[in-house]
Amino acid sequence: MEKTVEAFMEKIEEKNPGEKEFHQAVREFIETVMPFVRKNEKYQKYKILERIVEPERIIIFRVPWVDDNGEIHINRGYRVEMNSALGPYKGGLRFHPTVNLSILKFLAFEQIFKNSLTGLPLGGGKGGADFDPKGKTDNEVMRFCQSFMNELYRHIGPNTDVPAGDIGVGAREIGYLFGQYKKLKNEFTGALTGKGFNWGGSLIRPEATGYGCVYFAEEMLKTRRESIKGKVCVVSGSGNVAQHTVEKVLQFGGKVVTLSDSSGVIYDPDGIDKEKLEFVKDLKNVKRGRIKEYAEKYGCEYVEKGKPWNIKCDIAFPCATQNEIEKKDAENLVSNGCKCVCEGANMPTTLEALEVFLEAKILFGPGKAANAGGVAVSGLEMTQNSLHLYWSREEVEEKLRNIMQNIHKSCVKYGKEGDFVNYVKGANIAGFVRVADAMIDQGIV
Ligand code: NDP
Repeated sequence: MEKTVEAFMEKIEEKNPGEKEFHQAVREFIETVMPFVRKNEKYQKYKILERIVEPERIIIFRVPWVDDNGEIHINRGYRVEMNSALGPYKGGLRFHPTVNLSILKFLAFEQIFKNSLTGLPLGGGKGGADFDPKGKTDNEVMRFCQSFMNELYRHIGPNTDVPAGDIGVGAREIGYLFGQYKKLKNEFTGALTGKGFNWGGSLIRPEATGYGCVYFAEEMLKTRRESIKGKVCVVSGSGNVAQHTVEKVLQFGGKVVTLSDSSGVIYDPDGIDKEKLEFVKDLKNVKRGRIKEYAEKYGCEYVEKGKPWNIKCDIAFPCATQNEIEKKDAENLVSNGCKCVCEGANMPTTLEALEVFLEAKILFGPGKAANAGGVAVSGLEMTQNSLHLYWSREEVEEKLRNIMQNIHKSCVKYGKEGDFVNYVKGANIAGFVRVADAMIDQGIV
C-alpha cells in the first residue's frame, strides 16, 4: 500500500486525469479509511484499497434520437459498474447536461459504501447521459429513453445490474426505460427500480431518499437530546429528494423556509406547509416549471442564482447536487447557528466546507449514510419483485426507518471520537468493512 494519502492520491490522479469529482470522492474516503486499513494487515495484503477504486467495468455508448422537428441529436450514455462484491450493481441513472465520466465514477464509488451500509445484498454502480430533459416534450424524452435502453438492456438484469432514478430521471423516465427493456428482452423482470406501483414498484420508493434523510437527521439530533420538532430548516433543490425531505420535516413538526432550483432560491419565512408543498410537487413533477413561480404565487422572496446557505437555520438539508456548499457557505451556516447538516444529495459539500463543519463539531450526516434510504427501498423493491408480492406502506416505511437507524448505529460504532461522532469516518469505515471482507472471501477477481 502507498505510504500516505498524498502518495495514494497522486496515483489516482495520474491514472484518472481530469476527473476532479472522482478524485474528491476518493480523497474524502481514503483520508478516513487509510488509517484503519493500516491497522488491518489483511486489507493491505489483499490490496483492497487499490482494487476498490478501480471500476469493474465501464460501458460508454452513443445515444442518437430524433426531436419533434425531425432533427437528429447525439448524446453519450454511460454505465459505471463499480463493485459487485455484495450483490448486483445498483445505483441510479442521471440525465443532466453536466454528466461526464468523472461525475458518474464519483457517484458509483460512493454508491458502493452506501449500499453496503444498508445491509442489503447490493453492489455499487451508476450511469446516465449528458441529455437535458428540461424543455423537451414527453415524446422526445420517450424517444431518448428508448434509444438509451437500446444499448443498456444487454448489460443489465435483475441479477446483474439494476439501475434506478437520480437527477433528471423520475417516474416518467423509469416508465419509458422499463417499457423498452421489456420489449427488447421479452420478459417482465425487476431490472429497474422506482417503477410505478401498479407495475412492480414499491410503495414509499419515491419518498424514500427524503424520508430516510430526515430519519437520519432525527437520529443524529437524538445523540444531543434534541429533535426536529420546532426547528427551522433550509432545504436546497426542489426535486424528488427535496420534496420528500420537506414532507417528512413537516411530519416531525419542523419548519422549512427555503427551496431552490438551478435558477435560484425562494425564502418563505412563514414556512412551506402541506398545501404549499403540494403546489411545489405539481409545479415540478407535472408542469415542470421553475421555483420562481412559488415566490410569485405566495409573495415571498426569490433570489436569482441564490443558495439557501446564508439564511439563519437550525438544520440544513442540501438536496440538489454535488459541491453546492462551498467553504464560505459552510462558514455562514455555522456562524448563523446551524446545528446539523444532513446530506440528501450526493457530495453536496466540498472538502473545504466539510472541514469547517468537522472543526465546528456540528452534527454532519454524509450523503453515503444519510441518503441511503432511496437505495434501501430500491433493494426492498427488488425483494418484492422476486417474491412476487407487495408490502404495505406501513411495512415498507417501518423497514426504511429501521435501516436508517441501523446505518446511524454503524456510523456511531466506527465514528466515535470521544464525545464527538465523526459520521464521515463512521460511514466510510462501516461501509468499507463489509465490502472488503466480501472481496477477500471471493478471491482475486
Ligand atoms: P431531481 O432531478 O428530482 O431534482 C434535482 C434538483 O436539484 C432540482 O431542483 C434541480 O434544479 C436541482 N439541481 C440539479 N442540478 C443542479 C445544479 N447543477 N445546480 C443547482 N441545482 C441543481 O433529482 P433528485 O432529487 O433525485 O436528486 C437530488 C440529489 O439527491 C442528487 O445529488 C442525487 O444524486 C441525490 N440522490 C437522489 C436519490 C433518489 O432516490 N432520487 C437517492 C440518493 C441521492 P433544476 O430543476 O433547475 O435542474
